[in-house]
Amino acid sequence: MKSDIILEIKGLKKYFPIKKGFFLREVGNVKAVDDIDLTIYRGETLGLVGESGCGKSTLGRSIIRLYEPTSGSIEFDGTDFLHAKGEKLRQKRKDLQMIFQDPFASLDPRMTVGQIVEQPYIIHNLLGTKEREVRVKQLLEMVGLKASHVNRYPHEFSGGQRQRISIARAIALDPKLIICDEPVSALDVSIQAQVLNLLKDLQKRFNLTYLFISHDLSVIEHVCDRIAVMYLGKIVEISSRDELFKNPKHPYTQALMSSIPSIGTGKKKMSKILTGEIPSPINPPSGCTFHPRCAFKMDVCSKVAPQLEGAPGHLASCHLVNPLNLKTNTTTQKELL
Ligand code: SF4
Repeated sequence: MKSDIILEIKGLKKYFPIKKGFFLREVGNVKAVDDIDLTIYRGETLGLVGESGCGKSTLGRSIIRLYEPTSGSIEFDGTDFLHAKGEKLRQKRKDLQMIFQDPFASLDPRMTVGQIVEQPYIIHNLLGTKEREVRVKQLLEMVGLKASHVNRYPHEFSGGQRQRISIARAIALDPKLIICDEPVSALDVSIQAQVLNLLKDLQKRFNLTYLFISHDLSVIEHVCDRIAVMYLGKIVEISSRDELFKNPKHPYTQALMSSIPSIGTGKKKMSKILTGEIPSPINPPSGCTFHPRCAFKMDVCSKVAPQLEGAPGHLASCHLVNPLNLKTNTTTQKELL
């Protein structure tokens, strides 16, 4: 099983320091990612879902080291990625790419499409000029654009086409894992399905693994094999897609599902509507961080933080799901690996 793991993160934290005063003294931290363990298997799509501000994009950026994590470990494809430096880091970065939410902001408006897609080869000093030209045209066709688009600029394309350019750039170096950070949420609904289908086709063709970040459970349901639900910097539930939609255990997951009209069509309507705002990650609530918004909170919830545990393949961090006095029969995520 271990050989099927492409990414394993343990105890990952990303705290942003808050500095105040003339001497910019550190007075606190924004705990955007707080002690996360997560495993991604080769060839799968793992969905990461949660409200905006829950830390899912920060987690994606910390994995790829766009943000340097505060602590923890990241093992990527058998390498200690978090401590990789110099040439080793450069080589590993080829295998780990990212697609961003806003395709317009992530594409340099002064560069032609050809120059944008060619960039990874130049950075990594790969292929000669002629070979790069041929490869760029092939990549554009692979993502559903035309080879003749090579000399156009990003502003000449629609949102969906711009995201296709981002995808072409992301797959240029034949990566193993792509972190897709809300890749369709800036697009019209009619275009979303086309881009999702393209990502699925490319996954099959190149045996790609995706970490797919989205606030939209219906998108996540469409593309993911397993789903991790994130709340205030922590994973609160993780399981296969089918199991999660059939049997959501954590009250937060249930609330997320009941807040989306398309979810539950033909299924029993859930009444756990999510109320209130997500609390500040500067000073998260004690115990279970969801307790101020939870319709099922008990006395213990504000005192003891629940652990992510449960039956193999379906873990949740909730005292209601895993009562404290029954913990001897449960399995932690670490024990499953
Ligand atoms: Fe709700 Fe308590 Fe479960 Fe937290 S631990 S989700 S407050 S029931």
